[in-house]
Amino acid sequence: MAKSDTFSSDAKTAANTPFYESNPGAKAHVSYHYNPHTSEYHYGALHPMKPFRLMLTDHLVSSYKLHEKMDLYTPRLATKDELLQFHSEDYIDFLQSITPEKTAKMTGQLLSQFNIGDDCPVFDGMYDYSSIYAGASLDATRKLISGMSDIAINWSGGLHHAKKFEPSGFCYVNDIVLSIINLLRVHPRVMYIDIDLHHGDGVQEAFYTTDRVMTVSFHKYNGEFFPGTGSVDEIGLGRGKNYAINVPLRDGIDDDSYIRLFKLIMEPLITKFQPTCIVQQCGADSLGYDRLGCFNLNIRAHGECVKFIKSFGIPMLVLGGGGYTPRNVSRLWCYETSVLNDVTLDHKIPNYLPTYDWFGPDHSLHPQLEGRIDNKNSKKYLESVKQEILEQLRYLNHAPSVQMSEIPPDLTGLTDEEEDAIRDLNEDMGVDQKS
Ligand SMILES: [Zn+2]
Repeated sequence: MAKSDTFSSDAKTAANTPFYESNPGAKAHVSYHYNPHTSEYHYGALHPMKPFRLMLTDHLVSSYKLHEKMDLYTPRLATKDELLQFHSEDYIDFLQSITPEKTAKMTGQLLSQFNIGDDCPVFDGMYDYSSIYAGASLDATRKLISGMSDIAINWSGGLHHAKKFEPSGFCYVNDIVLSIINLLRVHPRVMYIDIDLHHGDGVQEAFYTTDRVMTVSFHKYNGEFFPGTGSVDEIGLGRGKNYAINVPLRDGIDDDSYIRLFKLIMEPLITKFQPTCIVQQCGADSLGYDRLGCFNLNIRAHGECVKFIKSFGIPMLVLGGGGYTPRNVSRLWCYETSVLNDVTLDHKIPNYLPTYDWFGPDHSLHPQLEGRIDNKNSKKYLESVKQEILEQLRYLNHAPSVQMSEIPPDLTGLTDEEEDAIRDLNEDMGVDQKS
């Protein structure tokens, strides 16, 4: 286990983080938002996205007794009105009404209009599935906004490809965009950090013209790899110019280069932008041996990126994302849950875990995941990417300040039905209604 501390200190970075008061004695208040129904849906037998990875994750988290460290919430589904905060009504109506039976009778034209196909099939209950994971992310934002949580986790969220008008890359509803919209009601500046293998295109696109959200994505890029975007010269537009940051990487990046680059880029970005809230998408397909992946990252290295961001002491929404080798996805997210709770876990997975057999033959939380793919990221290449981004950063003079508009009244997160019920109850009890 001594090896586990390889990435734990970075004194120089810590010493150069002046504006956040670190309070090492104070433990962050962490909440965990999980609706178990989310793991019961199926995209189809051959589809790489397996929602049951969320059940495996939850089993691991509870077998390590991490549940005892956090506030646990079983969130309600997002309402249609909530989904419409970003998505178009046409698209949400379509999602709500389509079924596999109806699909069989539909024209290819209508299906392709809504980008339905192999990546984003129509499956039973997909509207509910989307409302569940989006509901969990929104629940997490409410706990951050109210100050009940410093760090709020939803491993079922992080579906970063979904667009306003259509699904994309296994993502139907963009819970990240919805969450950031909610956070912007009270937070002047939100930073989005994406360490999924794929470019966080849906989130970047949604906030491409605003300086209130800085999007930062580390991903594989060669112009063809899905979703095709994410080159270093996509920097934002209008007021958002220079507030989109892209870190394009080649196949096979290893732990040391990834962590080094991540810290060298994130530290000055955070210091300069001064986000008041951070949303981190922790897609697990950037791990080595991922079914769809091509990086060489180990679980500890991925987790180091979460630990580093946590060290700034800024409120965090932590989300899942991609990840197509379920046993490693769940190992990663369990490990990252422990990092966020400042808990050290035994690398041996508890043998009373109901899904223990999934983690054989080693039954370790930290299998070796590097070395499958040649590292095509030369030192020179990574240096040039870093230089280009630091150059972009020079154009950011200071953190933009905003006129905060009045906080909308719906931040309690109550549905209309719930509000009606409370009103009825108050009327029954003779409470004066002033509104
Ligand atoms: Zn991905």
